[in-house]
Amino acid sequence: MQREYSLIINGEQVAGGRGTFDVINPATEEVVSACPYATVEQLNDAVDAADEAFKTWQYSSDAERKQALHRIADGIEANAAELAEIIVKEQGKPMFLAQAEVGGAVAWTRYTADLEIPVEVLEDSDNKRIELHRKPLGVVGSITPWNWPLMIAVWHIMPALRTGNTVVCKPSGLTPLNTIMLAEIISKEVPAGVMNLVTGESGIGSAITGHEKIRKIVFTGSTPTGQAIMRNAAGNLKRLTLELGGNDAGIILPDADVNAIAEGIFQTAFLNMGQTCAALKRLYVHETQYDQVCDKLVELANAQSVGDGMAEGTTFGPVQNKDQFDLVKDLVDDARENGASVLCGGQPLEGKGFFYPPTIVANVTDDMRIVTEEQFGPTLPVIRYSDVDDAVERANSCDVGLGGSVWSSDIEGAQKIAQRLECGTAWINGHAEVLPHAPFGGCKMSGFGVEFGQEGLLEYTVPQTLNINK
Ligand code: NAD
Repeated sequence: MQREYSLIINGEQVAGGRGTFDVINPATEEVVSACPYATVEQLNDAVDAADEAFKTWQYSSDAERKQALHRIADGIEANAAELAEIIVKEQGKPMFLAQAEVGGAVAWTRYTADLEIPVEVLEDSDNKRIELHRKPLGVVGSITPWNWPLMIAVWHIMPALRTGNTVVCKPSGLTPLNTIMLAEIISKEVPAGVMNLVTGESGIGSAITGHEKIRKIVFTGSTPTGQAIMRNAAGNLKRLTLELGGNDAGIILPDADVNAIAEGIFQTAFLNMGQTCAALKRLYVHETQYDQVCDKLVELANAQSVGDGMAEGTTFGPVQNKDQFDLVKDLVDDARENGASVLCGGQPLEGKGFFYPPTIVANVTDDMRIVTEEQFGPTLPVIRYSDVDDAVERANSCDVGLGGSVWSSDIEGAQKIAQRLECGTAWINGHAEVLPHAPFGGCKMSGFGVEFGQEGLLEYTVPQTLNINK
C-alpha cells in the first residue's frame, strides 16, 4: 500500500489545507504520489508553533541536543532503503547515488551532533572577565532545491537544531517526499513544534521569507530566488545564508596527465546528471591537449548507461524536470547553431522521461550561452586556451563564484593559480567535493555565508558578549 504524506505542524501530521499536488517521476512522467499543499494560514501555524517551542528548546542542554541528533541519524539509517527509493522516484538519480545521499545525510547529522559551540574568554584579569557566548536566533526558515533534496535539508536543519533554534522547512515542490519523511523522523526525537514542515512553491516561500517571527533564512537555490529572498527578508533584518547558483570553471594546466585526470573531470562535471551546484560547468583546456581531453571525455560519456534510476545497471538518470530538460536542450542547440561541435549526446532520448545523455560540446566560444549561463544539467562545454593567465581571467569573468579547480601534476604551481580563482572553494585535481568539516559557500552572486564545520554552525547563532566587572 502506498504511504500517505502530511505536513508537520507542532508535532502533528496534518493534511494540506489546499489539498494536494502530484509529484512526478522524471524517468516515467508518472505520478509518484500526491503531496499535501499547505496554505499560508498553515505556515503561520507552523511558525507560531516553532516560536512557542523555541521558548524552551533554546535552553535545552548541549548533551540533550547532541543525543537528539544522534537518534535522528539512527532514524535516517533505519529508514535508509525507503528514503533512497523515494529519492530515486521523485528526483531521478540512479539508486547508488540516492544511497550515497542517504549515507551523507547520516554522516552529516552525526558530525553536526558532535560539534561544540564555543565560549571564548576574551579577558580574564583581576577586575574583569569578558566572555563571548553564542546564542540561538529563534525560528529558522529552511528553503531547499530539488537536486540533492535530502542532503541539503540535513545541511540546513541539523546545525539549526544543534544550536538550539527551531525550524520551519519548505522543500522544493518537485521533490518534497523524502524531506517529509525526514521531518517525520526528526519530529519523533524533538519536542512538538521544534521541527515543522510546510509545502508549496514561491507563494509559501515568500510568506516564509517575509514572516516577522522568522529570524533567519537558510536558502539553497538559484540566484534570482536568492535576490528575491534578500529583498523580502529586510522587514525584520533576518539573518541569511544564501547558497546560490554557480558556473564553476576548471582549468587543466598543460603539464597535467590527461589519462589520470579524465575520469575525475567527467565525474565531477556530470555528478547527479550535472545538477549539482558546485559541479564543473566550464572546462578550459590548453590547445596542446585539447583533442586528447575531448576524446577521453567522449569515451567516458559513451560508457554511461542512461535509464531509470531504479533499473539495475543504470549509471545515468534523467534530468529532474521538464523546465531544466528544456534549458539544457536549448543551450546545446544554441551552441550547435553558433558553430560549436557536439561530440556526443546532444539529442534527448525518444520516449517517456526527461532523458538527455551526457553531452560534450567542443569548439565553443566565450560568448555562447552554454558558457555564460549555468546549464545545471548533463552537458559540458570544453573551451580552448593558449595562455594560462588568459584562462584564469576568462574563468573569473562571470558574476558568480561558487567553486573552481585546477588540474595539474605540479601541486605547488597549481595552488598559486587556484588561489587566483574568484570562488568560495578551489580544488586541485578534484572538484565538487564537499565535506562536513570544510566550510562551503560562494562569493560574488553565488551568495554569502558558509555551511559546514564550526564556521557553518555559528551562522545559526548570534554572538553575546558578557562583560563582568568583578
Ligand atoms: P529555485 O531557486 O528555483 O528554487 C529553490 C527553492 O526556492 C524551492 O523550494 C522553491 O520552491 C523556492 N522558491 C522559489 N521562489 C521563491 C521565492 N520567491 N521565495 C522563496 N522561495 C522560493 O532553485 P532550484 O531550481 O530548485 O535549484 C537549482 C538552483 O539551485 C541552481 O541554480 C543551483 O546552482 C542552485 N543550488 C545551489 C547550491 C549551493 O550550495 N550553492 C546547492 C544546490 C543548488
